Amino acid sequence: MTLDVLVIAPFRRPTFRKAISEHYPVQEPWDSPPLIVAGGLEAAGLTVEYLALQNILDSWDEPRDLPKLREMLADMPARMVIFATDYFIPSRSTATLFGMRIAARELRADDSRVIIGAVGRLATTAAPQLFDQLPECDFLVHGEPESVIGTIAEEILRRGVTAVDHPSLLTPTSLQSGQRPQPATTQMLDETPIPAWHLLAKSLDWWDKYRGQDASQPIPFSLRTSAGCRFRCRFCAGVPNWLNYRTKTATRVATEIDTLRNATGDRAHLAFLEDEIFTRHPDHVHAISEVCVQRGIVFDGVYTHSSLLTPEVAEPLSKMAQRVYLGLDNPDDSILHDMRKGQRFDTVLRAIETARASGLSAHLEWIIGSPADTIDSLITSLNAIVTLLSTGVVDSINTYVYCPHPGTEYAEKADEFGMRVIDGFEDIQESGGYPAHDTHALSRQQTFIAYLMSQLTIAEVSRDRERGLLTPSIGSPSRHELHRLFDKVAGR
Ligand code: SF4
Repeated sequence: MTLDVLVIAPFRRPTFRKAISEHYPVQEPWDSPPLIVAGGLEAAGLTVEYLALQNILDSWDEPRDLPKLREMLADMPARMVIFATDYFIPSRSTATLFGMRIAARELRADDSRVIIGAVGRLATTAAPQLFDQLPECDFLVHGEPESVIGTIAEEILRRGVTAVDHPSLLTPTSLQSGQRPQPATTQMLDETPIPAWHLLAKSLDWWDKYRGQDASQPIPFSLRTSAGCRFRCRFCAGVPNWLNYRTKTATRVATEIDTLRNATGDRAHLAFLEDEIFTRHPDHVHAISEVCVQRGIVFDGVYTHSSLLTPEVAEPLSKMAQRVYLGLDNPDDSILHDMRKGQRFDTVLRAIETARASGLSAHLEWIIGSPADTIDSLITSLNAIVTLLSTGVVDSINTYVYCPHPGTEYAEKADEFGMRVIDGFEDIQESGGYPAHDTHALSRQQTFIAYLMSQLTIAEVSRDRERGLLTPSIGSPSRHELHRLFDKVAGR
């Protein structure tokens, strides 16, 4: 039977770990936003299926995986295909252009009449580039798609793309005519569709079939209980409604959890919350914590901003999460200021103390190679990473390559910040992607080597700490030697 709509979470180019082995032991959570879009389409009376290609094809190798992609697409013929990514989190969206291009090429080769659309952050922040680089794309939805996607898709299927006039709909023609779309806005998160978890069945079957040895492992899922942020970091913020912070009620979150469990049995492991700043409202944290305690759910971790982690929220948080993820991003206050991070290094240290006093582990996220970084600041970062880990001030750290995501202030004003964006969206990946940019102060090779050095030191120091082999002490770096090394990396 031909479906009305197939929703696809598109895959990305594999970073070096997954290119080394498709079974490299890192696994991303299965996101909820594409399933909310699928829920919105079903609510409009359309027949819908879902393909979690972001997870199933996370180590794409064309000779090996193209037959799998073709088999899956042939199993779910549809009149319309919508590529759906997260609206808020740039790292879940930008590089998915890679998978969209491959899947769209295959879809059109098989059926020239299939209608192809895209929703999410990239569709909102980079419409001209998306139409240019994805010529098969017939339409985009600008803004938060959940509340409008059902109406738009139903009308397009009934009347054709060119006949539909919706303020948040963009087509190549409307873009060319200079039309400015209005961002779709979700007023009340509780009014958005429940994620269509029941549509996971086919994706889980494909996962079992293609992943073989991984099939018995619990599958990590993520949920969103709030949307938006209070801060506008220059490397992250960049979509309409970013500062429009909204929360779901506890009843609604409970329903999402229960329906996920009903749909997946004991296969789903609720790993983390997609929320940007989960702890902004203490009442919300208390209410969601209660829901989790009632169900015996403990998330691996929850994100928040250091200034929003007070003892009042840390206590209920400790009952529903093992750790709190804090974006330190850089230990240098002047760079934090440049990033518009809204925190100083000592704010983060206080938040770590607050977390640990409540029994939460504290995890730091760190950006390597942002526009304000220099060789000297990278050396400071590397030394601070080792010091914070070896002295036990923090429980864990992970580093990421800075990424010039479209829509962010750094990327949109790259010249002003002394940055050159070299690669396209497909290559913009934080977790092990090769830097897509260089700056006046850093070559992309230097940034990548600093990232690899940070990953190596984190792995070694963490391992020795677990074995009790470290003498916690603060060591100073040999700046001269490290400058010499980074000079060599730059070919000097
Ligand atoms: S605090 Fe900054 S980095 Fe974190 S979600 Fe908000 S804008 Fe993004």
